[in-house]
Amino acid sequence: MSDSPRPLEPNDRRKLLGHTEANLLWLLLPAAHLDGSRYSAAVNVLLDSEMQAAIIKAQGYGGTGSGGSGPADPTGSAALAGASCEVRAAAVRRVWLAELASVAESVARVRAITAERLGESSPPLPLNLATTVRSIRWLTEAPQGRVLDTDDPESDHAIWFARQTSNAVRQGQLTSPGGHRIPSVSSVLEAARVAMKRPVDPEPVVQKPMEGCRSCKRNAGHFEPIDVVRYSKPDLCTMCGNYYAANGEIPPLAAVKYVHRTGKRLTTKVVEEAKRSERQPISENRTVERTRWHKGETTKEEAS
Ligand SMILES: [Zn+2]
Repeated sequence: MSDSPRPLEPNDRRKLLGHTEANLLWLLLPAAHLDGSRYSAAVNVLLDSEMQAAIIKAQGYGGTGSGGSGPADPTGSAALAGASCEVRAAAVRRVWLAELASVAESVARVRAITAERLGESSPPLPLNLATTVRSIRWLTEAPQGRVLDTDDPESDHAIWFARQTSNAVRQGQLTSPGGHRIPSVSSVLEAARVAMKRPVDPEPVVQKPMEGCRSCKRNAGHFEPIDVVRYSKPDLCTMCGNYYAANGEIPPLAAVKYVHRTGKRLTTKVVEEAKRSERQPISENRTVERTRWHKGETTKEEAS
């Protein structure tokens, strides 16, 4: 993995942390057709020799092969078929664990650097996927996203690394210390699905994991991670999604802008003031924009 390309802009930091959060939430979500989270289900698939045999049979692979360099294999199925079952399962699990631990450590490091800069206390948390998601939220949510203005090369590199690595565990590309190709969690789950002859899971909750909230985007392309657990379908972040669920429409742009600018909460007062300001001269345009959004078309930047 090469070094991060350049110093990050505040919005890059938000975006990369958002991607990392989406990858970790994806791993934590329940697996289709299998028990437990996607991550634990994939580990169980690898530990289950019957399942492994079924996977190999279903995919028509033999039991040997060394992985290593070869043609691109985005699904990781060749890597899955390489080596013997026992060796394979243990090696894959070791790599996943090591990579996810490095993601957790990177995010914890960013949190520690940021807390020190702000003079806030940052008690050490146990390093796991859930606490890492919490740390990312601590970094990106109010006040104004603590990490955004942290101009620190180590922190930026850690943010970039966490994104790349969490992405690799989720959907490739991973290699073992010995240079063997390691399947991603999604490729193991996909292989299990095929072996079990199950229909494709529509996976509505991860429809657009790398996209930002469509409502927040109206504010000069501001990136806010979609709440993939609750609001993946309307493509909204937690804040805009909560508002949408309660009101049947996305929050007024002026209110969203206010929250982004100040890091304060989206209160009824903020919404009312935003609506008042929107009823001013260009209210007709805004109604048109809102209607388009409801039809699922791309939102244009509104005049402000
Ligand atoms: Zn939003």
